[in-house]
Amino acid sequence: MSVVGFDVGNESCFIAVARGGGIETIANEYSDRRTPSVVSLGERSRGIGTDGKNQMIFNLKNTVSQFKRLIGRKFSDPIVAEERKRQTCLLVEQPGNSIGVKVRYLGKEEVFSPEQIMGMLMTKLKVISEAELSTKVTDCVVSVPSYYAERQRRAMLDAVAMAGLNCLRLMNDTTAVALAYGIYKQDLPTEKPRIVVFVDMGHSSLQVSACAFVKGQLKVLATVADPNLGGRNFDEVLKDHFTEEIKFSVMGAGARAGAGFFCQAGLVAGLQVGRALGCSGCLGLGSAVPSLHIACDEGVNTQLKEKKQRYKLDVASNVKAGIRLIRECEKLKKLMSANSQDIPLNIECLMEDRDVTGKMKRSDFEEKIQSLLQRVESTLQSLIQKSGLKVSDVEAVEIVGGSTRVPIVKDIIKKIFDKEISTTLNADEAVARGCALQCAILSPTFRVREFSVTDAAPYPICLTWKSQSDDEGEMEVFAVNHAFPFSKMLTFYRKEPFTLEASYGKNVKLPLEDGFVGDRIIQRSEDKEKGKCTAGGIVCSSCPERIILNRQYGNDYLYRAPVRSGSYSVQDVTPTKEDESSKVKVKVRLDIHGLFTVVNASMVEKMGTATDIEQDKMEVEGQEDKATEAEAAAAAESTTEESKGTGDEPMETSTEQNTDSSEQKGDAAKEKEAETAENGKETKGKKDNGAPAKKKKQQVKTIELRIDSTAPGLTSAQLREKVDRENQMILQDRKEREKGIAKNAVEAYVYEMRGKLCSQLEKFITEEARATFVSELEQTEDWLYEEGDDQSKKVYQEKLDALKKTGDPVVTRFQESSTRPAAFEELGRSL
Ligand code: ATP
Ligand code: MG
Repeated sequence: MSVVGFDVGNESCFIAVARGGGIETIANEYSDRRTPSVVSLGERSRGIGTDGKNQMIFNLKNTVSQFKRLIGRKFSDPIVAEERKRQTCLLVEQPGNSIGVKVRYLGKEEVFSPEQIMGMLMTKLKVISEAELSTKVTDCVVSVPSYYAERQRRAMLDAVAMAGLNCLRLMNDTTAVALAYGIYKQDLPTEKPRIVVFVDMGHSSLQVSACAFVKGQLKVLATVADPNLGGRNFDEVLKDHFTEEIKFSVMGAGARAGAGFFCQAGLVAGLQVGRALGCSGCLGLGSAVPSLHIACDEGVNTQLKEKKQRYKLDVASNVKAGIRLIRECEKLKKLMSANSQDIPLNIECLMEDRDVTGKMKRSDFEEKIQSLLQRVESTLQSLIQKSGLKVSDVEAVEIVGGSTRVPIVKDIIKKIFDKEISTTLNADEAVARGCALQCAILSPTFRVREFSVTDAAPYPICLTWKSQSDDEGEMEVFAVNHAFPFSKMLTFYRKEPFTLEASYGKNVKLPLEDGFVGDRIIQRSEDKEKGKCTAGGIVCSSCPERIILNRQYGNDYLYRAPVRSGSYSVQDVTPTKEDESSKVKVKVRLDIHGLFTVVNASMVEKMGTATDIEQDKMEVEGQEDKATEAEAAAAAESTTEESKGTGDEPMETSTEQNTDSSEQKGDAAKEKEAETAENGKETKGKKDNGAPAKKKKQQVKTIELRIDSTAPGLTSAQLREKVDRENQMILQDRKEREKGIAKNAVEAYVYEMRGKLCSQLEKFITEEARATFVSELEQTEDWLYEEGDDQSKKVYQEKLDALKKTGDPVVTRFQESSTRPAAFEELGRSL
């Protein structure tokens, strides 16, 4: 059984496996541990990972990258509108406001969902792991950003399933890092927890979490994120800067060799000199592009103006040039992390057959990304605020993710937490390693040190329902940062079937950093009227769109309150024999993946008569609910002892926490055992009215109720269809790969034999036969470039066999002649 962890990044993925008693990251077919998250759909097969990235520049329209940002989102989502600008392929609206990726694949137009594209990447990761482990890989743990909402989590699970993988846990990035950090620590305290903050700044997002460690346990206390802030934003700032420079031809931008002109910008006097000389042209330009170094004499300025006309290059109008420029900007950014001097940017033949050169130094870069750095700072501040921790409580700050290598980002982290930051973890591999460790913990066949992982919910989950009087009821079942996996038992009093709607909460004030759940609408304050609601930061419950107004980075934004994440209809509820409301117990769970689910529902039927019940009894149970035997028993048996109150509150709750193993191993006995382990702090929802509570034990019968649920994600029939399509594509890729191998074998044989026929094989074939064979080889070579360019594997094999029919006897004669003297010698010695 495989133990594999996948870190699925927006830019690239890492894979870690359990092998030889430890956890190690593995390399792909190019001996690279980093596999780009890029899928390129081709005329004959798919290029995924490194192949996808390599093919991108030649196949822009059919290449998809950064699809981690698209899964689980609606087409109308403003974030999708932003992402469309970054895609080179076409995104189209599909039925149900879903996203379609329109590409040409195998000579035909086809529309894939982002989840299918993610499924393709997962297939690639699976293939890499299988090749490395020489075994079938099924079970795995996959990383997701902590800010992923319900729909995105379900989308990721669908994608993983499309690749034929079984995801034991979707693990939040920073939680995986925390596990990779904690499990090897021998010195964790037994009582007062050690608080460690983890910062992961990757390609497209910044995630921060505060975790408490005690021996054998890790608990995420709080997690915050800026889901739209990562290294790509830095690259885009650089790209915008150089795009402007190239547009106005102030960088070196010259025709290719021979065409004559190379702009000399950057080689002459600086802006200050220009100002000192009172050169108006230079001042004008200088203030627009402060990093500029321009010759400050009128003559040169005039020349520059001319160049502006002659060498104006608009990178924004050329997708390929844009891709090349941003790739170079990323390289420049990385170099600036290591060096504070001027770093050159040189791109040959960027567009219109012209080379461009430019330069930047770290201090200029830091100035340009100021507004982004402020967001880093406010995200970190927000963690302190939300976790309720003091900076002095934090013992260590660990950083991972490529973008934490930017020196000024490190400085900010250091400043906010007032301590040196630790880099004990591998910044690139920690997430994958944490996922593999979690997979090992969950795997029944793998022995690993006991270590429990309790995560924190990024959003509050609310349930709403209609009561019999048709009023809407609402309850926050899981508060923000609530521990998960976690189960609760809710009790309703109903005479008929009823429906529970799960959402991220109507009256929840969404903090800015988290204000991106579900369908976010971002509008500038000018559009405020459109939203019809302006209550600062508060949901307007009267307006149907449930708009929230919030202020972020000086702008007002309107958010549509998070969408409902699922609907659960509890069926078969009937009144009691006395026509009273029946007691209905509903078990809800924030599961191991961070998904809200209604696990089961049952109706508790009293075996006695109604007079046995104390009508006035109310109770308060404010303790953490340690043992949930009643619930476990209700699941296991048909009758049980119950104490009963009939307050008119619609429901009450009790809580329990599942351990990871109970989620996975799932049989009743294990679950019962696990559910007694640890608990949260929810209270049972009944108030004490001071009346004496007489308890009477009563025999009850529990009837399981059917639940009709609709949750986001694919139905099983839809998923099956996608799995089939993925399997067809896998077959096609395999066929194409095998065909390629067969074709290469023919090509290699032609070259090898042609060479050898003029050297070592020359004496072992007659001149006439050699001439015929050489001509046959030449014809085959021509055929390979023409008609034989795209044939089936069988055709190539037949071609090779035909050539070998002539070639093999020659090779045999050569081999015999070289082995015969040695054989004679051997024979002579033995005689
Ligand atoms: P995400 O976590 O957002 O889904 P990811 O996991 O693919 O994305 P990482 O691999 O952690 O992202 O980080 C990639 C980012 O880090 C890129 O933007 C890359 O340019 C940046 N990066 C890598 N090395 C450096 C460096 N030395 N200096 C600055 N930035 C760097
Ligand atoms: Mg990452």
